[in-house]
Amino acid sequence: MSEIDRMLAANAEWAERFPGSKDVRPARRVAVVACMDSRMPLFQMLGLEVGDAHVIRNAGGVITEDVVRSLTVSQHVLGTREILLVHHTQCGLQATDDNSFADLVEQATGRRPPWAVRAFRDAEDDVRESMRLIRESPYLLSREVRGTVYDVDTGVLREIEDPAAPHHSQAGGGPLQRGQDR
Ligand SMILES: [Zn+2]
Repeated sequence: MSEIDRMLAANAEWAERFPGSKDVRPARRVAVVACMDSRMPLFQMLGLEVGDAHVIRNAGGVITEDVVRSLTVSQHVLGTREILLVHHTQCGLQATDDNSFADLVEQATGRRPPWAVRAFRDAEDDVRESMRLIRESPYLLSREVRGTVYDVDTGVLREIEDPAAPHHSQAGGGPLQRGQDR
């Protein structure tokens, strides 16, 4: 049986216990931007239920033009106001760099991708960079953003301090475990 057949069978079971319709607008008015990593079950690890949040995922959880597009729809059309960023330890994007990745694709296909893969060395630094890109986006209604790194070996989500945050000293009090001040 192919993996997709297994997923279709699992969906038949899901539909049996389907909890019912929800509002298209996320109940908790939050959008999560996260890496696509298979070890991050975002709804479980963040205590989210169906209908609670938008989840926008890509390789690395980096802020691309399309992530901004989704966040803009999320806020202007569907009412979200807070953004949580979730990077993680042992990310696949830490195992390459933009040039090596483009070389790899070009050698295999004969075509060099016109886009950068957006590799990074340090997940914390990239979370801060992502927070900066969101704050600088001219299209969002709310730039309430907080960043985290998830440890794929322990399940602990650690908040990343951002000295550039406008309300840095007032950002505490949430359910997330906070990182050390630097
Ligand atoms: Zn990743």
